[in-house]
Amino acid sequence: MRWSNTLIPTIKEVPADAEIPSHQLMLRAGLIRQLMAGAYTYLPLGWKSIQKAAQIVREEMDAAGAAELHMPALQPLGLFERTQRKEAFGSVLIQFNVPRGNRLIPMALGPTHEEVVTDLISHCISSYKQLPLTVYQIQTKFRNEERPRFGVLRTSEFLMKDAYSFSSSVEQLDEIYDRMYRAYCRIFARCGLKYLPVEAESGPIGGDASHEFMIPSENGEDSIVYCEASGYAANMERADTGRQTPEIKTPADAGTLEKQATPAATSIEQVSQLLGCEPSQMIKTLIYLADGEPVAVLIRGDHEANEGKIRRALGAATVELADEKTIQQVTGAPTGFAGPVGIKCKIIADHDIPVIANAITGANEADAHLLNVNVGRDYELETTYDLRNAAAGDPCPKSGEPLAIVHGIEVGHVFKLGTKYTEALDADFLDEKEKRHPIIMGCYGIGVNRIIAGLAETKHDDKGLIWPLAVAPYEVLVIPLNTKDDEVMQTAERYYEELKAAGVDVLFDDRNARAGVKFNDADLIGIPYRIVIGGKGLQNGEIETKWRTADEAEMIALDAGITPIL
Ligand code: ATP
Ligand code: MG
Ligand code: MG
Ligand code: MG
Repeated sequence: MRWSNTLIPTIKEVPADAEIPSHQLMLRAGLIRQLMAGAYTYLPLGWKSIQKAAQIVREEMDAAGAAELHMPALQPLGLFERTQRKEAFGSVLIQFNVPRGNRLIPMALGPTHEEVVTDLISHCISSYKQLPLTVYQIQTKFRNEERPRFGVLRTSEFLMKDAYSFSSSVEQLDEIYDRMYRAYCRIFARCGLKYLPVEAESGPIGGDASHEFMIPSENGEDSIVYCEASGYAANMERADTGRQTPEIKTPADAGTLEKQATPAATSIEQVSQLLGCEPSQMIKTLIYLADGEPVAVLIRGDHEANEGKIRRALGAATVELADEKTIQQVTGAPTGFAGPVGIKCKIIADHDIPVIANAITGANEADAHLLNVNVGRDYELETTYDLRNAAAGDPCPKSGEPLAIVHGIEVGHVFKLGTKYTEALDADFLDEKEKRHPIIMGCYGIGVNRIIAGLAETKHDDKGLIWPLAVAPYEVLVIPLNTKDDEVMQTAERYYEELKAAGVDVLFDDRNARAGVKFNDADLIGIPYRIVIGGKGLQNGEIETKWRTADEAEMIALDAGITPIL
C-alpha cells in the first residue's frame, strides 16, 4: 500500500480527552477516530490490525473444531424476555420498536448471542447423535455501556468472537471447555499478548466453570488477586472463591458416599439468616430438610454461645448441646467429628462435605454427601472469604503466600453455561433411550478490539506503538528519503514491489515530506521493520534497515536484494 493512497491521519499533540496510553496512541497513530462517545471508526491501519487478529482467532477456532457462522445483530426482543435477560441486562440492552405495517415490532441489538444461537439449535438439533457441536462468529455486539471509556477498550459497539458449544453430557462440555481454553492461550500468544488466565465469577454452575483471560495492565478495570508462587489468580468480582481447597489425606477411606435429603440452605448467608448467627461463626454449612423440617446443623467454635442464639432463633424447647453420638441418632449416620460437635435442636448441623466430595473424590452427585470422614485425618477444614473484600497480603488459598492485587483488561472469557438457555428456549435432545434432556451449553467470548487496544496499552514507548509482527497493520515500512530523486524512488519502488511479490505486507511512504516527519510517523505507527532508502547509504550501494525495537540500524547491500529481509 502506498501512503498517499490510504488514510493515515497522524496527530502530533496528545489528544486532551484521552486518558490512557492506548487511547492516546491509537488516536495519534491514525488507527481510530471517535464518532460519538462509545462509537469509533477504525481507519485503515486500525482495521488492518483488527482483521489480522480476527484471522488468528478464526484459524484457532477452526483448529479447535468450531464451525463459523454469522447471526443477525438485530434480534427479536421476545427471546430476551424468555430467558429473563431483558431485566438482567437492563439499560445495557439497546432496544426499540420497529414499525412494520400498522404494527410495532420490539427488537434489540444483540449484546451477545446466547438467545439467537440457542433458538437456532433448538430447531436444528434433536438427537444426542448430533452432539457435541461448537459454532462461532466474529460479529458486532451492541451494549449501552454506562461508562464507555478508554478509547476502544470499552465501546457501545464492538467486535466479538463468540463461540457456543452444545453437548449431551457434562464430560463433553468439560472436554470442549478445555479445548477452547487451550485455543485461547494460543490465540493470545500468537497475537503477542501477555495474558493471565484467572478464575472468574462462575454463576450458577460454580467451581471452575468460568475463566477470564486478562491482560495485566495498570489501567485495566478489573482487579485480580494473584500469587506468583502458586499461579493462583482470580477476579475480585468473585463472591465465593477464596475457598481453600481441602486436601483429602487418605482418599481410600475418606468416607462413603450416601444420599441425603435436599439441602434447604446452601450458603453461609442463608444458614446464618435462618439461625440468626454470625456468618463468621460457621463453616460453609448445609441444612437438610426431613419432612419439610430442618434436621441438623453443625457450627464451628463456641457451641455454648451459639446455643443461645439458636435457642432464640428456634425456640428454647428444641435446643440442646449434643455430642457425636446424639447427632448420629438424629441424623441416622455418624458425622465423623469428635467431641461436642453440634447443637441438637430441630436443626442439627453438618459441614459442607459435598463441596469436598466434589472437589476431591469426584462424588458430585446431586444431594450426595460424604459420611464417615474425619477432620484432620481425611481433609483439612475449608477457609472461605469473599474475594470482593480481599486485600493485598491475604494468604493465597493454594500456597499461603501473601496475595498481590493486580489490574487487568479482560480480553476473553470462557464459561460453562449449563442449561439456563436451553431450558428457557426449549433446546432439547433425545438420548439413546429416547429420553428428553436440555442441551448443555458453554460460551466463549473474545473482544477482538480489546486484543488490539490491549497491545497498544502494553506495547509502546515514548515515540509510539510497537506492534508484534503477527498483528501489525503492515510488516515492513519502506521510506524513500527524497521522493524528488529518481534513483531513490526507483530503488524504493523496486524494494516495495519485490517485497509485495514475496508476500510481505508492505507500506510505502511515498509522501513528499521531510525525513524527520517520516521517521516520527514511522515510530508512532509502530511498523515492526523499517527500510530507509537514499542519502549516503544509497551512494555506498546500501539500504538502511531497522527493527522498531532495536536501537541500531543495520546496513544491507543493494546487491543482496530482498533476500536478507525475508
Ligand atoms: P467487562 O467486564 O469488561 O464489561 P464483560 O465481562 O461484560 O466485559 P463478556 O460478556 O464476557 O464481557 O464478553 C466477552 C468479551 O467481549 C470480553 O471478554 C471483552 O473482551 C469483550 N467486551 C465486552 N464488553 C466490551 C465493550 N464494551 N467493548 C469492547 N469489548 C468488550
Ligand atoms: Mg460488561
Ligand atoms: Mg467482565
Ligand atoms: Mg466477561
